Amino acid sequence: MIVIKIGSRSFHIYELLLLGGCITLFIYLVLPYRFASHYDYIPDDDIERMLLPQVTPNVTHQQGFDCSYEELIIGSRFVYDAHFRERLLHSEQIQPGGEYQPEHCRARYSTAIIVPYRQREEQLHAFLTYMHNYLRQQLIHYRIFLVEQYDRKPFNRATLFNIGAQVAAEYDFPCLILHDVDLMPLNSGQIYACTERPRHMCSALDQWRFHLPYRGLFGGVVAINTAQFQMINGMSNLYHGWGGEDDDLYERLSSHGYDICRFPPAYSEYTMLKHKPEVPNANRNALLHAAALRFDTDGLNSLVFTEVERRLHSLFTHILVET
Ligand code: UDP
Ligand code: MN
Repeated sequence: MIVIKIGSRSFHIYELLLLGGCITLFIYLVLPYRFASHYDYIPDDDIERMLLPQVTPNVTHQQGFDCSYEELIIGSRFVYDAHFRERLLHSEQIQPGGEYQPEHCRARYSTAIIVPYRQREEQLHAFLTYMHNYLRQQLIHYRIFLVEQYDRKPFNRATLFNIGAQVAAEYDFPCLILHDVDLMPLNSGQIYACTERPRHMCSALDQWRFHLPYRGLFGGVVAINTAQFQMINGMSNLYHGWGGEDDDLYERLSSHGYDICRFPPAYSEYTMLKHKPEVPNANRNALLHAAALRFDTDGLNSLVFTEVERRLHSLFTHILVET
């Protein structure tokens, strides 16, 4: 038996191992982000090359010079200041439906921003003000689609994204950004356009002390080409309530051979507006466990919903649905 003497006391090796285990467990429970993983990212200099130039037909036919993005990307800055949050600047530039494209140059990227929504009015107001100020400085063509769940069933975030993706495709958007309403980007260089690989955008979230909890996290804000989203049959419609649907999406992408990518931390900082946690879906782990069996049958091709109303609000396209 190995006995270790510390001061005047002796301990069995097992006692010390147990103590070590308890300390590690304690640190893990109290400070889980000490164990956060470092992640691979695209170096600053490669970002512009990685963004796919793709626009809707109306932008293709626009005359004039192409917009330039180099300075914007290389000079990624912290932009979350009062100026952007407090009021909407030059609201006359935004077209009905929450669409914008720069006037003095031709955009290289067209992006549909899809926001799943129900009863978060204060957050929605903050989101719209900030995002329209933030996005216009990026010189991209974009439109915000708000997909609101009108029924009283548990919230189904993934189904709302499927619906949003279907509507965005009607408007010919080649790139989708699936976006929680309570997340706001802090750096100007996180360009709202798609990369060849699906991109996790909010990898440095303040709520997680700007660390990534695990490498397979693919929730919050993600960019994915419309064609890729269709290829993987969208997201699962079976996740009712909180949790699991984002991990299911990650599994779907992996099983179709799509690796994900990220930008450097100085491009990927986000802040999350405070809110009470939603009720977790008790069934989420069981669903996730069998996720691979359903990829071909559960998703865009099994989407059932009723569109109650579609309205062009001044700051967003409002799609009201019953799931
Ligand atoms: N959401 C909503 N109403 C709800 C629940 C969720 O609008 O009752 C939307 C909203 O866009 C939110 C996202 O779903 O940001 C993800 O939910 P939540 O913020 O609760 O999840 P978290 O990522 O914070 O755990
Ligand atoms: Mn949230």
